[in-house]
Amino acid sequence: MPKTNGVSGRLKLMKHEIERSAGGVLIREKQKDEGEAHVCLIQVPTRGGNPSWRLPKGWIEPEETSEAAAVRETREETGCHGEILGSLSEIEYWYTRRGEEQGERIRVQKIVQFYVMKYTNGSIEDHDQEVEEVRWYSLSDALKEISYDAEKRVLQEAIHSWDAYLYRQGIM
Ligand code: ATP
Repeated sequence: MPKTNGVSGRLKLMKHEIERSAGGVLIREKQKDEGEAHVCLIQVPTRGGNPSWRLPKGWIEPEETSEAAAVRETREETGCHGEILGSLSEIEYWYTRRGEEQGERIRVQKIVQFYVMKYTNGSIEDHDQEVEEVRWYSLSDALKEISYDAEKRVLQEAIHSWDAYLYRQGIM
């Protein structure tokens, strides 16, 4: 039998959970004094203290659709309401956390479904307390600032989708 090394042996014993969340790429139409449309990013506290700009997202409640969770989480985290224009790719990542009762290590497979949304109303001043800061970034600045590569790809996809939306509306 092939020998397993210590790491893969331990990983095999680790508990595995799947978590599903949903989130929004909330885009605000270009205003008269702006060169391009803007997107809402949030900054959440990180262990190292470095600012980390992300897309708003969160846990899908039981009995809730992924779309409803994305709209709710986006509103709670950014203070702003959006209307879904279309779905984007899912992203997937893994992380480990400690179990709440026994403190055992759990490998979490996280799957997040994002939607492109058009901003309708609300203010970033009204964001959730758990979020450190919310900012509107121009689309090109947001592509530079966003922390995770997978979210950057989702943002790129949302920008294509936004352009197609403007084209259909006869705005471009
Ligand atoms: P949710 O916002 O869905 O309720 P959460 O705030 O409980 O989730 P996550 O944002 O999934 O938790 O973060 C859990 C771990 O995964 C953290 O260490 C975080 O830095 C990391 N993480 C978050 N997003 C990504 C990503 N896109 N790629 C890789 N790692 C990520």
